[in-house]
Amino acid sequence: MSVVAIDFETANERRDSACAVGLAWIEGGRVVRRETRLIRPPQMRFSPGNIRIHGILPADVRDAPTFPEVFAEFRPDLTGALLLAHNAGFDMGVLAASLAAWGEPVPDMAGHCTLQIARRIFPDPAGHGLAKVAGRLGIRFEHHDAGEDAFACAEIALAALRETGAADIADLARGLGLMPIRAVAGPRRDFTRSTSAHALRASGIVDLRPKGELRFAMRGSTGNRYVLEFEERTDGPYLRCSCPAGTHRRRCRHVDALVEGDITDLTSNNVDDVERLRQLLDGKSVGPLRTKGVAAA
Ligand SMILES: [Zn+2]
Repeated sequence: MSVVAIDFETANERRDSACAVGLAWIEGGRVVRRETRLIRPPQMRFSPGNIRIHGILPADVRDAPTFPEVFAEFRPDLTGALLLAHNAGFDMGVLAASLAAWGEPVPDMAGHCTLQIARRIFPDPAGHGLAKVAGRLGIRFEHHDAGEDAFACAEIALAALRETGAADIADLARGLGLMPIRAVAGPRRDFTRSTSAHALRASGIVDLRPKGELRFAMRGSTGNRYVLEFEERTDGPYLRCSCPAGTHRRRCRHVDALVEGDITDLTSNNVDDVERLRQLLDGKSVGPLRTKGVAAA
């Protein structure tokens, strides 16, 4: 079973607003791999308080991949994995909420919390926040960079293993009476309707995305997940697909399907929006295919 420490940064107070993820793999008693990815959240709404913590700005993630695109890269590693996080309730919550928001299946995985482990193995009246525990253990890292935080979390778990002589994390957690935390699939949410422009204006935060944004997730023929986004460009409507053909600005079968109203491979929970899209187009050509005779990919 792979053991992976995970850390999310979020754009705002919502659990499904991940804007960065860090991962650190533990193998043979040490961290063997570290990855960090920026994520473009479903809504480009960044709370000043969150920006103050992680320093990630909307401009940093404007062209970043979406959660499903980032998660697809790591899904094989995380399926059946034991996850570690410092305050795991938060990170497991972000994971579950993001998967649910995009209508993605939740892989079978369990998590353990290094905050709870540290409280028991390294008790200290000064507290057990990531920076405090890492500081006491002599772990050097850049706090609030997702990859660095995941690394520190992994090192805290490794220190606890050395301290207790436990065989592995599961053994350690059992010995401490800690129950594994499961990422539970939450209710699906269609985020195209979730935040009204009015609420955004009232909050004084500018939504950087066009109003009435339309976004779809689709399953490709090989099982890959793609995200399609509708944009009103100055030269006309554009349906952007994240598949290889779409990225190369060629008309793809996913665009064809949505334009035709074919929802067979739609994995996002917004069938109604397919109809909205069709009404918006209303006979207009869309996307990379204003040129006639371009073959569907
Ligand atoms: Zn496509």
